[in-house]
Amino acid sequence: MQKIVNPATGMLITELPDSDEAAVDDAVYRAHIAWSDWLRVSPGDRARLLRRFAALVEEHKEELAGLETLNAGHPISSARWEAGNVADVLGYYAAAPERQVGKQIPVPGGVNMTFHESLGVVGVIVPWNFPMVIMTWGVAPALAAGNTVVVKPAEQTPLTALRLAGLALEAGIPEHVFQVIPGDGRTGALLAEHPAVRKIVFTGSVEVGKQVARTAAERVKRVTLELGGNNANIVFEDADIRQAAASAPYAVFDNAGQDCCARSRILVQEGAYEEFRERFTEALLGVKVGDPTRDDTEMGPLISAAHRERVRGYLEREADVVGECPTGEGFWMPPMAYFDVGQEDPLWTDEVFGPVATVTPFYDEDEAIALANATPYGLSGSIWTGSVGRALRMAREVEAGNLSVNSNSSVRYWTPFGGVKESGIGRELGPDALDSFSDVKNVFISSE
Ligand code: NAD
Repeated sequence: MQKIVNPATGMLITELPDSDEAAVDDAVYRAHIAWSDWLRVSPGDRARLLRRFAALVEEHKEELAGLETLNAGHPISSARWEAGNVADVLGYYAAAPERQVGKQIPVPGGVNMTFHESLGVVGVIVPWNFPMVIMTWGVAPALAAGNTVVVKPAEQTPLTALRLAGLALEAGIPEHVFQVIPGDGRTGALLAEHPAVRKIVFTGSVEVGKQVARTAAERVKRVTLELGGNNANIVFEDADIRQAAASAPYAVFDNAGQDCCARSRILVQEGAYEEFRERFTEALLGVKVGDPTRDDTEMGPLISAAHRERVRGYLEREADVVGECPTGEGFWMPPMAYFDVGQEDPLWTDEVFGPVATVTPFYDEDEAIALANATPYGLSGSIWTGSVGRALRMAREVEAGNLSVNSNSSVRYWTPFGGVKESGIGRELGPDALDSFSDVKNVFISSE
């Protein structure tokens, strides 16, 4: 049984049984049977069903946001954005069934055509940090491309996934086309291993991602891996320091730092270091930490007591700046920053996944690039500069799948999202994700 807990209070919300081998097998078997039914639904009707699903999510936005706040501790304003993103992503991919077209390629001796064939059952394994959003990034393009989906939510945060599966049925998506099987890592491993699962979309830690990739390799399954990050926020002297410093806390402390795109390694050019330090300190101390159901809360609790212990394990010395946070029940931790952190510090080398920022000075572009890339990760990052040439040079040199210039945003559902190096394989969102949920079949018809 999994205890589902409200991280802001530590109170039990409910308990859910783990899906064992028989339950996983049953779900995958039903998804496999449902695949042929789903393929018989015409592209126009599949599009209509996905649009209806998106509309129902929009209608239930407040309920879904409230559920995510309850179960994951997200500030309600963030959770509302997340529920909106779920509706947007479903709506975006709803256009796909009617637009995914093959090619006719000129060849001698006949006609050559290509078809996009769906893969079959797709397993989507989800982490706890952005439960409904990350789940939807896998589910929406998979369904649009004609696959059926079995989702394994994180053991801590299954509530929005279960509710969304209910809304899909309500929208008219046939039974077993989209199923959710709660459980922990053992359930995830069973799903990844299942011979009838043709693709795994895994979002989570690098360590488990490597395990999933090894399992997938045994049966040559397709995989998309969205793994950890330890991202650089690079601030040059010629940037708008006021703006860079004011937005830097949000880029780390959003979701209490439990964000694979958190720009927790802040690199600041020497000439701007003191000004940045002063302004960033002031902004950090202004972060509103507390009851996530309040509209003005900016940072909620960590997901669990165990995760808070893990983050605390990194805090060998006292931070240079420490913000405020509630002291009662719940898995609270204040936002904090360490200045002048070197490359050997575990705070700098590891993905801490908590509300901890490091600030490190650099001298010039070459040093900034070397520092930014001195990590096995390569997910996202920001470059703050007033020079277009420098922005372009840096954007080409920093090893990351998603970079923003004079902005800390990483996610726009029209554009690809994913990592390089140990941050993952493949892309979610945008048109690229859709292509990864089908195989191209080539058919030649002889005219001789
Ligand atoms: P995790 O790897 O512990 O778990 C992720 C999911 O995998 C959970 O559902 C878990 O039950 C399941 N799982 C655990 N062991 C498994 C196994 N052996 N086989 C199959 N599934 C298994 O990660 P987490 O702690 O839930 O999430 C935090 C991590 O996720 C961080 O490293 C973060 O960077 C990463 N993340 C990455 C992205 C991205 O898009 N790159 C987005 C969000 C989170």
